[in-house]
Amino acid sequence: MMRFPYAEIIIGLNHSGLDRIFTYRIPENFSSVRPGMVVEVPFGKGDRKRRGYVIGLTDSIDYDPAQVKDIQKVLTEEPVFTEEELSLARWMQQYYDAPLSSCLALWVPKGVTRRSRKKASKVSEEDAVQKPDFCLNEEQEKAVETVSGTMDRHMHRVFVLRGVTGSGKTEVYIRLIEKALDQGRQAILLVPEISLTPQLIDVLTRRFGRKVGVTHSRLTDAERAALWRQAKSGEIRIAVGPRSALFTPFSDLGLIILDEEHETTYKSEQSPRYHARDVAIEMGRRFGIPVILGSATPLVEDYYKAGQKEYSLLRLTKRAVPGAGLPRVKIVDMREEMASGNMSIFCRDLAQAVRERLERGEQTILFLNRKGYSTFVSCRNCGFVLKCPRCYLPYTWHKEERLLICHHCGKQVRPVETCPECGSSYIRHFGTGTQRVEEEIRTFFPEARVLRMDTSVIRGEETYRDIYEQFRDHEADILVGTQMIAKGFDFPEVTLVGVLAADSILYSEDYHSTERTFQLLTQVAGRAGRADKEGEVLIQTYSPEHYSIQDASEHDYDSFYQSELTARRLIGAPPFTHILQFLITGSVEQTVIGQSERFHKLLMSYGQPRGFMILGPSPASLERINNVFRRRILIKLEDRDRLMAYGKFCREKFLQSEPKAHIQMDIDPMHLQ
Ligand code: ADP
Ligand code: ZN
Ligand code: ZN
Repeated sequence: MMRFPYAEIIIGLNHSGLDRIFTYRIPENFSSVRPGMVVEVPFGKGDRKRRGYVIGLTDSIDYDPAQVKDIQKVLTEEPVFTEEELSLARWMQQYYDAPLSSCLALWVPKGVTRRSRKKASKVSEEDAVQKPDFCLNEEQEKAVETVSGTMDRHMHRVFVLRGVTGSGKTEVYIRLIEKALDQGRQAILLVPEISLTPQLIDVLTRRFGRKVGVTHSRLTDAERAALWRQAKSGEIRIAVGPRSALFTPFSDLGLIILDEEHETTYKSEQSPRYHARDVAIEMGRRFGIPVILGSATPLVEDYYKAGQKEYSLLRLTKRAVPGAGLPRVKIVDMREEMASGNMSIFCRDLAQAVRERLERGEQTILFLNRKGYSTFVSCRNCGFVLKCPRCYLPYTWHKEERLLICHHCGKQVRPVETCPECGSSYIRHFGTGTQRVEEEIRTFFPEARVLRMDTSVIRGEETYRDIYEQFRDHEADILVGTQMIAKGFDFPEVTLVGVLAADSILYSEDYHSTERTFQLLTQVAGRAGRADKEGEVLIQTYSPEHYSIQDASEHDYDSFYQSELTARRLIGAPPFTHILQFLITGSVEQTVIGQSERFHKLLMSYGQPRGFMILGPSPASLERINNVFRRRILIKLEDRDRLMAYGKFCREKFLQSEPKAHIQMDIDPMHLQ
């Protein structure tokens, strides 16, 4: 084999933005140096020792060989990333315009390059592995067969698995994972948020024993590194976790599944701003393996591709448990309730329905989207609203702690007795938060045992599990909660679900909001009547005629999809275009405004591609966070590549003339800033 005298090296793997490739000489005694290895090199002023990652070998350099420094140490015997992983990282670098080092870092968790090499504990093969006590139904069978067929032929294919809530998607995943293991390969199952899926994890560990490696955000570096090694050594053959689990270093991946593929957590909000689905599909394409996108409410973009035959559609139309039907859903117009003198947060029907459940010993879930409906403090005399001085957002009143908290930056202050504006003492908290709902329940139904689940109650997976188990074991009659309870809760005794304010996310300027409302209502409604008892759902709203609410109440994804597609076509939103979002930020408002206007002008001054649309500059939906001012510009185009190229080009041009400006670029955003 030919010996290369030089190595191409990235210094550090982080988000610091140092994204250049440096060349070092490979000394004679380090002839084992290969791409993927970690080395120590002299760097910068005073030749400080830095860790470097070898990404290539070369025999040519385009500057004075006398200036090339030597690699000083080789820190790993084996590469920490493969050529394949490096190549995928390079693909991400291009596709998202992100630093290569931060892309590559996704495959190399921090703890991995530490010297401590704790031996991974050996596990016994014979874990009690349980079999299910049912057979697949016809639809499940068909889905499994279809995907299995592509696996036999080592074919890449993207499948949208659209299955109503409770249709047994998990069992389909399990059979296909078994298939991948039988082929001697490994599988990755992505979930939106691990702490919200205790049931899924339980089922998987029961079925696959210790072959399953579960990752989540609270793992320490050492734990992460241990899992990484177990995956490399083949001890773990199934990786389950949030989007980062996609980067598990398996040697022969056979299958990738995204459960609840519509969830926004699949998109990273930090550079690289990647979407797990896109990376999964690229991996699927390269490895010749299927990618499954499972959901009761697939993203409009993904369903559209299924319609265009770019993806294949698999459907589960019925609930899997024999006898379980989809719940009856009733929409209640809260304007009428108000007009007839009911000022309570519960409409009369819901109050009555809860009472019946209590009498029958059945359980109720009450759902509130707290984000839109947090309790803020305002003056009844002059209307003044207490806001965080750093973010200009209303504080949320936390009754238990007796504190006002900015949910954005976390700032906490004590409540005031009088209005800072007019001096009146009529300063009160309004709105409906989960705490207030819990209180009202206690007044309305003093005999009920109530549990509350939201981010201020949940401070770790433990508490989540506690509440989850208490409710499962019927130690409470009513569970009040936020989005957290919309997913994964599968309890036979729950026969009533009340949605207290369906409108709370509907009215925002983000074009995603209609779709999110539909998804959320469908998910929430899916919590009722999962066993043989019939379920009932009541949706309280001020916009009962809106299609996202109507269609969710009729479990009609197709109708929703058609209306939404028409709306998207009208406004030129995805799937008909791609969006590139620029966020311009800075600490001086006038500077940020000036920069965004000059950048806008520049975007308009080059020969823009045909069909190009531009929106803004406008204040971001959060105009100011922690004293940072934020403005937004959106550009849209059908052709993603050309859109990216144009955006990159303009941004670079702009930064040449205004190098101090901060312009963040986000392609295919899941949230408009
Ligand atoms: P989904 O993920 O589609 O919402 P789940 O996978 O959670 O649905 O399945 C709902 C319930 O149906 C689970 O309790 C599961 O054990 C059960 N189940 C799945 N498949 C079958 C089947 N073929 N026969 C009977 N029960 C089933
Ligand atoms: Zn006042
Ligand atoms: Zn704040």
